[in-house]
Amino acid sequence: MATPNRTSFSLLVKPAGADCNFHCGYCFYLPKASLFADVSQPRMTLETAEAMLRAYFATPQPVYSFGWQGGEPTLMGIDFFREVLTLQRRLAPPGARIANGLQTNGSLLTAEWAALFREYDVLVGLSIDGPQEIHNAHRHWAARVPLARGRAGSDDKPGAARDTGIGTHDRVERCARLLRAEKVAFNALTVVGAHNEDHPLEVYDYLRSLGIRHMQFIPLVEWGASSSYSVSPEGWGTFLKAIFDRWYPRDVRRVSIRHHDSVLELLALGRYNVCTMSGSCGGHLVVEHTGDIFPCDFYVEWDLRLGNVRDEGTDNPLVAAESSRLRRTFRKQKARWDAECAGCDYLRFCGGDCPKMRPSEGTSHLCEGWRAFYGHTLERFRGLARLVQDERAERLRLRG
Ligand code: SF4
Ligand code: SF4
Repeated sequence: MATPNRTSFSLLVKPAGADCNFHCGYCFYLPKASLFADVSQPRMTLETAEAMLRAYFATPQPVYSFGWQGGEPTLMGIDFFREVLTLQRRLAPPGARIANGLQTNGSLLTAEWAALFREYDVLVGLSIDGPQEIHNAHRHWAARVPLARGRAGSDDKPGAARDTGIGTHDRVERCARLLRAEKVAFNALTVVGAHNEDHPLEVYDYLRSLGIRHMQFIPLVEWGASSSYSVSPEGWGTFLKAIFDRWYPRDVRRVSIRHHDSVLELLALGRYNVCTMSGSCGGHLVVEHTGDIFPCDFYVEWDLRLGNVRDEGTDNPLVAAESSRLRRTFRKQKARWDAECAGCDYLRFCGGDCPKMRPSEGTSHLCEGWRAFYGHTLERFRGLARLVQDERAERLRLRG
């Protein structure tokens, strides 16, 4: 099975760590705040950002790709991003291609942010789980425990965020309308869990009604105490199939769905563009607000720390992280799929699934869903891939 190009990698940057003004019940990243327990307000300094940029720009990349995430990255304030985006242009090697994406809950965006995103071609990923009732099931405003003291009689840590139970949908929908009016390119990022797995068409039609033309559906799989939030194996398949049938053929050229694009890129061009489908873990490094480097945002754990962008030594800290033994071992975990996967017709598309979705034994939690989805759609994907190949060949022919 092919794997993504190992000489290139993107950066997922967490400038405000796990800090967020929302408290979404299912969020896997909020608990990561406990890794930096002595920091009440995690914020990346400009010095750390500059060290990260210098290290990254010293590596050869076809595209220097930055994904700004959290928590909520816009808590950094607009001036931080203005400075970092300016610095990128100043420090990048001549002729470098730079891509920036920012994943946000949309609560703080204004026309001023929109102008900045337009100026620097920042692609915004807006988290929205569907119409009001669905979105508000888990995506709530947070309240900050005063720094001076925790809540009387509670275990809340000063500075920690608490769930207010108040939904955020109105604000997020307003943000979607703002981005559209301001002509900022944006994707909808929709988490699919127990709260919306039975409502695929309501979700899709709602996103379309907002004029959204780029969508990404992210399966929610949690374990232990949080497992009730998870999408069910059957529900994942039913959700994906219903979305595909709504999209094909009417919206094929009007709406881009990230997973559909990835399947088509693999079928038409033989390339993986997401780690979750490929044969190994990698393609990106996470940089936390402190500059600490980790292999993946599902695995921000001290025993997987790969270094720090401010490490001084002979090696570039990102190159050292990327080539470390820990990183190599981490990469290989994906190919240790269950024996059943080895004989599966869909292994090429599923790669045994992301290790986060796998129980300690057996196939992925989502296996039944993946099989149902690919069984239902692959013939139609193959037809679309042939069209992509023909159109590409025609473009090349016209270019001479
Ligand atoms: S754990 Fe999942 S998301 Fe992380 S690198 Fe591996 S496949 Fe990708
Ligand atoms: S669909 Fe199931 S059996 Fe097939 S590769 Fe994926 S997890 Fe393994």
